[in-house]
Amino acid sequence: MPERLKELRSRLDEINARLLELLEDRAELVKEVALVKEQAQLPTLDSRREEEMLAALLGRSRGRLTDVQIRAIFRHVFSIARDLIDEARLSRLGVHASNRSGPTVVEVGRVRIGGGLPPVLLAGPCSLESRAQAETLLDYFTSRLPSERFLFRCGLDKPRTSPYSFQGLGREGLEIISRLKKKYDFAVVSEVTASRHIEEFAGVVDMWQVGARNMSNFELLRDLGRAGTPVLLKRGYAATIEELLYAAEYIYASGNKNVVLCERGIRTFEPWTRFTLDISAVPIIKNISHLPIIVDVSHSTGRKDVAGSIAAAALAAGADGVMVEVHPDPEKALSDANQQLSLAEFALFLEKAFPGSRKE
Ligand code: PEP
Ligand code: MN
Repeated sequence: MPERLKELRSRLDEINARLLELLEDRAELVKEVALVKEQAQLPTLDSRREEEMLAALLGRSRGRLTDVQIRAIFRHVFSIARDLIDEARLSRLGVHASNRSGPTVVEVGRVRIGGGLPPVLLAGPCSLESRAQAETLLDYFTSRLPSERFLFRCGLDKPRTSPYSFQGLGREGLEIISRLKKKYDFAVVSEVTASRHIEEFAGVVDMWQVGARNMSNFELLRDLGRAGTPVLLKRGYAATIEELLYAAEYIYASGNKNVVLCERGIRTFEPWTRFTLDISAVPIIKNISHLPIIVDVSHSTGRKDVAGSIAAAALAAGADGVMVEVHPDPEKALSDANQQLSLAEFALFLEKAFPGSRKE
């Protein structure tokens, strides 16, 4: 290699090293600026300031790079700075893995969720329809599933797409559950759609479910945070994983550390499933948060034929549990009739997803 080339290359290496050092110093400064702005409640992103910095740089140019090139370089530098700010902000959340030593284990009655414990099964009807319906299911579940791994899901107040569809039994349903709790040993998960339910359902519902349509109802999340009962927070069907984590932070930061996340599918262009299950959300959330995460195989796929395989996939991806809808007579169900498993289908589902899960 010619001496001259060697010399030029070594000068380039030196400049690269200086550039890197400067960029790293810049990154530290950017994070400090963002923190000061956050404390002063100022917006962290300020495109006018970026324009001003660019104008100043163009004014200092010695003409060896064109304005277009200078703009391109610094637009990239600014965009990386924005990523750094987002990452730093996320890492300060209470729900972020770096702010807790080890995974959170959420206790709902005798059921413990998360922390690498055996996965739990949240099974039950879409909506509670009658005492007889719940009894048939509870007879089956409580005699076959280990009580420390089973939660009864059932909607008391149903947020339906159409206001003319069945809206749930509400108070009447609450009384049914309350009476059944004297007969069977189980904990119940039910959806709250408004803060008034927190008081109304208290003492009967063991875990509040926040449905996909309410993930961004921040007032409700704050109220659930103050209430303390464990919360199952579903991902909105047009929400990013980051938005789900911020929603969980509303509950967590308001004082309730018993939060379980739920991936239930997002809306895509695929028409063969009701939503598209974002299975990658499971390991991504496991990496970034200490909260447990479960997967709803019913509302995500809207199909019975793949429920068992999808549940197995969710568990293989590291989910702490699976939710599935079961109805004694699915065809007559008042909501989600297409996706609810009959008891015979549920038995096959169990074999596929939870082999060896039955009580001996
Ligand atoms: C439910 O689980 O009853 C429900 C309505 O689900 P989602 O909020 O995910 O649509
Ligand atoms: Mn349903």
